[in-house]
Amino acid sequence: MKTAIAATNETCQAGAEGRVISVDIAAGKAVAIARTVRETERVPLITATGRILAHDIRGSIDLPPFDNSAMDGYAVRLADFATSGPWMFSVGGRIAAGELHAGQPASNEALRIFTGAPVPAGFDAVVMQEHCERRNDAVVIAKRPRGGENIRHAGEDVRAGDRLMAAGDQLSPQRLALLAGQGVAEVEVLRRVRIGLISTGTELQQPGEPLGPGQIYNSNRVMIRAMLSAASWAEIVDYGIVPDRRDALAEAFGEAAGTCDVLVTTGGVSAGEEDHVVSALGQHGGMLDVLKVAMRPGKPVKIGMIGSMLFAGLPGNPNAALVTFRQIALPAIRVIAGLASVGPQWSAAVAGFGYEKRLGRTEFVPVRVSGRDELGRPVLQMLGRGSSASLMAMSLADGIALLPPDIAAVKHGLPLLYEALRGSD
Ligand code: AMP
Ligand code: MG
Repeated sequence: MKTAIAATNETCQAGAEGRVISVDIAAGKAVAIARTVRETERVPLITATGRILAHDIRGSIDLPPFDNSAMDGYAVRLADFATSGPWMFSVGGRIAAGELHAGQPASNEALRIFTGAPVPAGFDAVVMQEHCERRNDAVVIAKRPRGGENIRHAGEDVRAGDRLMAAGDQLSPQRLALLAGQGVAEVEVLRRVRIGLISTGTELQQPGEPLGPGQIYNSNRVMIRAMLSAASWAEIVDYGIVPDRRDALAEAFGEAAGTCDVLVTTGGVSAGEEDHVVSALGQHGGMLDVLKVAMRPGKPVKIGMIGSMLFAGLPGNPNAALVTFRQIALPAIRVIAGLASVGPQWSAAVAGFGYEKRLGRTEFVPVRVSGRDELGRPVLQMLGRGSSASLMAMSLADGIALLPPDIAAVKHGLPLLYEALRGSD
């Protein structure tokens, strides 16, 4: 959350209908009640990408495990360079990667050696082949090598016993490479977060089905699933569409509470008569933590708990669902997953548009990057003139810009925070 706090440091306001809180406070509340999963599982390295380490890992072997050549060339002994050059050596052997040299080193003898091959004891430099002139069974070297030149020494990268990774580290391809280099075949990771998903709304129809009168297609389900699809630490339990009926919602919530670590719902959270999410939650003794957030889109957001399951009730409007999911629900979900970095990834950008907004409210608008300014920052163009219901504007967006609460008018050249819209892994 650190990145966003500076930009959205708004004060809480007491509105007529109840307390209005800032985006950061809302996200902070969600993060504060989120509990990281405890259970762990062992997984093969090959399927561990993006998973979160359950424990610190220490090196068990030195890397590299033995002195080896960093080049194709000739292994030599510095003692043989005492006279003035050039120097001629007899080639006393040939060592390729994976082979061992048997003989004892003799004076004025060089060994043909290839990258990755063990450098035999007694040899203390490798001269790259480009600096050697081969003459039948001999090799001529014109320049005296430095001690240790082109030798990768045992343990210079990793020493057995070094701490390589910490609990909570996410397994990137590079970290997996290090573990594999240690000979590790399986790794203990936190189990996946089980994320329940419910699309509320009697008007909703699944794509692929005929659209009845008054119906609209469900956009949120695929959108939220897609945002999580690259997250290998997440497992989706999709409860599909639930109509706006308290009993149907309460039943679905109860089912999710027995299975999931977190339940994300969309729709039904405003104060309208047909918004039954809150009362259905109350039926389970659910506790609500966030009510009104000074943000656009997405003012009605509900964060709470049903038993040990975090509940994130997002607005139904797809843009509002997208923004509140990324700004408020996802950081908490990332805490549950055990990730160390949980907040949105903001980067510095600059407005290439003018726009008037309401003071005191954080706005998140879809933007396109139209170029770079002289400092290399992305120049942003706002899409859709702030209409929060536009699927089209969001589909054209490269990312989301944060328009801070203490600004009433965005002018060309104003520095803004920008979050690229990619996956959420
Ligand atoms: P609500 O938050 O339930 O008041 O919904 C706000 C608006 O978003 C309404 O126009 C809904 O029809 C629409 N909406 C709700 N859920 C979805 C969804 N899953 N996909 C697309 N639109 C939705
Ligand atoms: Mg609704």
